[in-house]
Amino acid sequence: MQELSTVSSLAGAPGPADPMLQAMHLETETREFYSLELLDFLVHRAFPGRIALVSSFGAESAVLLDMVAQVNRHIPVIFLETGKHFTETLMYRDRLAERLGLSDVRDVKPEAARLDREDPEGTLWQRAPDRCCHLRKVLPLAQALEGFDAWITGRKRYQGGERERLPRVEAAEGRIKVNPLADWSLQEIRNAFMARDLPAHPLTRVGYPSIGCAPCTNPVISRETPRAGRWHGLGKTECGIHKPVSSVE
Ligand code: SF4
Repeated sequence: MQELSTVSSLAGAPGPADPMLQAMHLETETREFYSLELLDFLVHRAFPGRIALVSSFGAESAVLLDMVAQVNRHIPVIFLETGKHFTETLMYRDRLAERLGLSDVRDVKPEAARLDREDPEGTLWQRAPDRCCHLRKVLPLAQALEGFDAWITGRKRYQGGERERLPRVEAAEGRIKVNPLADWSLQEIRNAFMARDLPAHPLTRVGYPSIGCAPCTNPVISRETPRAGRWHGLGKTECGIHKPVSSVE
């Protein structure tokens, strides 16, 4: 596991204002940083008061949440409360936030009037999952990130699919997006759980290696990829928050 060390050689926020250039600059400047050093630099030097963590409080989330709490437990943590989560996830969120001392976990919910109009029975996930994710995740996140210049995600390359070529630092929709665990292996995640004595999401014990909304998450069998249970059989692999949003409508 990484040791937190003082980042003394880099001064202040990265120079270029353009997010693409800024991402390239950050990637270069922080290439040698361990994940915890990177978070420390981002939170205290590059984007003080202007960075948030977005967490699903899913199967592996505790590792990154714990690292962020070590750096600064007051950093805003955005949880997309879609209204479709497993009860176990909501309980785990509360337990983990208390255990780590996170002081600013924000439940971000979809707009009620929009749900009344487009998903009055709560079954949109069955007939139009992309639209459901747009209403319940993409649009609320876009609003929640207003005022932030950067955000942190827990995606890893080993999760496969579109994530296999994931950079540690990228630009998206005018902001910097940082994936501090991009190059971590599943074994390193498991080691971090043990080393830090982190509590496991209760559904991981019954076959759920990746956990999203309840209607769209199934357990997986051992030879499948960890995210195979997400939107099973629908040809959908991502909810859309990691794709460009053309407008908040
Ligand atoms: S994961 Fe499923 S229930 Fe959750 S927002 Fe997307 S389609 Fe809707």
